[in-house]
Amino acid sequence: MLPYFEERTAEQENGCRTWSLSQSTSGYGICTYKNKRWYTHRLSFKMHNGDLLPGMHICHSCDNKLCVNPKHLFQGTPKDNEKDKISKKRNVRGLASHYSKLTLQQIRMILALKGSGPAGHVGKLFGVSQQTISRVWRGATYKDELHSLIDE
Ligand SMILES: [Zn+2]
Repeated sequence: MLPYFEERTAEQENGCRTWSLSQSTSGYGICTYKNKRWYTHRLSFKMHNGDLLPGMHICHSCDNKLCVNPKHLFQGTPKDNEKDKISKKRNVRGLASHYSKLTLQQIRMILALKGSGPAGHVGKLFGVSQQTISRVWRGATYKDELHSLIDE
């Protein structure tokens, strides 16, 4: 593990090195390295294993999008990544943990209340922060996840 990552991550019990700085809206770690924006897991893979093959995705065997432990990363085709996601149901689990304070029913109600008033007010109704409400409403990046969650 290179110091660049060691210094910027916290080790978890399962060996994950969780990136604790910036995150993308899709939940991946992001950083600027040599004036370039990187997803941290991709940068970590490249720095530890060499160049990424064109068109390949870097997948997490540990299912933790913020993890940059090179031992938990593997290169796969976009199809592999999709299969991996589906087999792990990461979308649903990720979302559920994201909105762990809310039940499905509440998420549906919050979505229905979109546009009816400020997020802060709606948050009070559900006992969650304005940020949580905004995140649910913003949903665009989570749209597919929301649908899969709501359909379940
Ligand atoms: Zn990991």
